[in-house]
Amino acid sequence: MSTDTRNFIAGKWVTAASSFDSVNPATGELVTRCAQAAQQELDAAVAAASEAFPAWRNTPPPRRAEFLFRVAELLAARKDDLARWITIEMGKVTMEARGDVQEAIDMARYMAGEGRRMFGHTTPSELPDKFCMCVRDPIGVVAVITPWNFPIAVPSWKILPALVLGNTVVWKPSSDTPACAAKFVDAFVEAGLPPGVLNLVLGRGAEIGAALVRHRDVRLVTFTGSNEVGHRVSVTAAETGKRCALEMGGKNGIIVLDDADLALAVDGIVWSAFGTSGQRCTAASRIIVHRSVRGPLTELLLDRVKQLKVGNGLDPSTTVGPVINPAALERIDGYVHIGLDEGARLLIGGERFSKGECHRGWFYRPTVFDNVTPAMRIAREEIFGPVICIIEAGSLEEAVAINNDASYGLVSSIYTRSIDRAFTAMRELATGIVYVNAGTIGSEVQLPFGGTRGTGNGAREAGQAALDTFSEWKTLYVDYSGRLQRAQIDSETPTHRKKLKNENSRTQISPVRPGTGKAAARIRGGLPRRQRRRAYPRRNVAQGGHRHPAAHGSSHLPHSQH
Ligand code: NAD
Repeated sequence: MSTDTRNFIAGKWVTAASSFDSVNPATGELVTRCAQAAQQELDAAVAAASEAFPAWRNTPPPRRAEFLFRVAELLAARKDDLARWITIEMGKVTMEARGDVQEAIDMARYMAGEGRRMFGHTTPSELPDKFCMCVRDPIGVVAVITPWNFPIAVPSWKILPALVLGNTVVWKPSSDTPACAAKFVDAFVEAGLPPGVLNLVLGRGAEIGAALVRHRDVRLVTFTGSNEVGHRVSVTAAETGKRCALEMGGKNGIIVLDDADLALAVDGIVWSAFGTSGQRCTAASRIIVHRSVRGPLTELLLDRVKQLKVGNGLDPSTTVGPVINPAALERIDGYVHIGLDEGARLLIGGERFSKGECHRGWFYRPTVFDNVTPAMRIAREEIFGPVICIIEAGSLEEAVAINNDASYGLVSSIYTRSIDRAFTAMRELATGIVYVNAGTIGSEVQLPFGGTRGTGNGAREAGQAALDTFSEWKTLYVDYSGRLQRAQIDSETPTHRKKLKNENSRTQISPVRPGTGKAAARIRGGLPRRQRRRAYPRRNVAQGGHRHPAAHGSSHLPHSQH
């Protein structure tokens, strides 16, 4: 079967027996026909990644980093083209699509820098002549599973740290954005990445995604997507003994207090709620506003929402693009009806948008509900579309409690002019990310990204925290004393030894004296005592030195405790 977009396995673009289509959400037109990977392609991809692993893990990290620097430059050179592919395949407006690519460029540069850092640490030993350190070790074959809403940025958060740390990757992107995935992989191919280090398998999640998570040669699964799928992935990973890093949904709140700059708050709300048509994990969907400013804030907000222009993201005047597919349109519209049934008041929007060319795609009008209570489903469940709920609160404490009463914990934000309230909120808001006087969007690659509670399982992406997600610590002990030294035993102080000696004599345990002759030296694997004295003269303890335990006043301790 002829296909336009193929799987990338062991350094080659390969086709498959069946195919699926990727469609432009703004027009319904075919973007690309894709080779749908089956078990055979998946096994080949994991085998390629496993084979490439030993050489890649032993490539010095600064050399690995050079590939990433090249990827960054290639992405930068192709930013316009990649952004166009994102808009055509995923729908977000061009300005935001450029941001999606820029995030990958930033991540490539940041993670490439890690090639010459990747700090481990040293720490003193409790024993003399012993050196302790730990270094980062790659984990092995990493399964990367990503959603469609950031077709290049989200994969970059995972693939780039995984690679610089010495892992190899099998990536399964969303079946809604396979062309963007192939374009992203192109940059790695042109950067000269060795075959098998990065592999791409295309197909539906329930089939190829699930099989990848189950695969016995995968060591780590890193997943971003919905809670429903994430929980399934987590269970399979646990059952098959894999590490698993999850980034899932959000129900992010913006708190607007009575001392807030309302115009600034409205800027942040509109950007956070309707950017990417509300299809960001960090999108704001709950506006928790102090009752004394609810009226003026709502008025300002509605004025701005009316000015939003829904349309094809390729049109520079568009501010809100389509939603990803017909199922998303159904879900969003379903939630609007749930909100109406629950008694929320619809202020604007609440319907599909199909004017002009938009009738060919999947568009929804920016929607604002008020009179929403925290218990309503529209205030608790992730809608993942251009819909926000205004919820009233009487105080900072109440606003924080409403914000924290969601099962998700990705982002929250607060608008206030009070430094005291800002710091109180930063402490009390139970999300992985908190913004003050900014919306819920604006993560930067050099800081950790991830959510608490229902959003994640504690792993973080980006920043230094990503290094912990994509590597494991190897602890190294080097003993250069030339004798057996036992942690926790030989580290006992002279006082302890004396006490032990007294106890031993009281309980009549006859201590085994270490011999001093040749036979004893053979057992110790060292020199006879007299020669040892010559080779290792006593050092003055008072001057900070140490003495060989055998030459110490504790020589009548049982031999096994030296
Ligand atoms: P999704 O869960 O439907 O799919 C995510 C990925 O998982 C896709 O590649 C899909 O093919 C794959 N998949 C589906 N079923 C699978 C299975 N059984 N086993 C393995 N893989 C499977 O999510 P989506 O619709 O692509 O993305 C939207 C969701 O992603 C939203 O909930 C959003 O909040 C979340 N998201 C979270 C973050 C974050 O960082 N927290 C970022 C972006 C998106």
